Amino acid sequence: MKACYPGTFDPITNGHLDIIERAASMFDELVVLIMENPRKKCLFSTEQRKRMIEQSVKASNVSVVIGSGLTVYFAKSIGCQAMVRGIRAVSDYEYELQQATANLTLDETVETLFFIARPEYSFLSSSVVKEIAMNGGEISGLVPDEILAEVQTGMKRL
Ligand code: ADP
Repeated sequence: MKACYPGTFDPITNGHLDIIERAASMFDELVVLIMENPRKKCLFSTEQRKRMIEQSVKASNVSVVIGSGLTVYFAKSIGCQAMVRGIRAVSDYEYELQQATANLTLDETVETLFFIARPEYSFLSSSVVKEIAMNGGEISGLVPDEILAEVQTGMKRL
């Protein structure tokens, strides 16, 4: 089965990477889907985010694709039967439940599957990484080693 893991990944964190590795071991193919959202202000361009994910992921059945429009329609158009999302807390659950239900009404043939965050990453988000880096804090251990320098450089531009 082919699944996708849609998100913003601005930038990818070790929490995202953990979900990618766990999902990649369950599906034949996993597409990490960077959805373009003109309303979201990102620090890194979609191309930069794509490259950072490619540098971080080791599994051979994972690819990275940039998508636009409605996620569920895009997922279907590239042959995915399932979408993976991560849940860190009840606050994530409320949002994710609404999204997944909306997606089910748009296309009931695409299932949303949830992975529970590992406890050590349950506080971790791209925003937390940016906040820490912006204020000169240590982000090693929070993002993949392969992209550490790029994230730090990206933050200095702000
Ligand atoms: P979006 O803007 O679509 O929420 P994100 O890149 O912020 O994109 O997150 C993508 C998905 O990864 C979401 O389902 C989010 O809940 C999940 N996620 C983010 N950080 C973690 C983490 N530390 N552990 C597990 N799942 C996570």
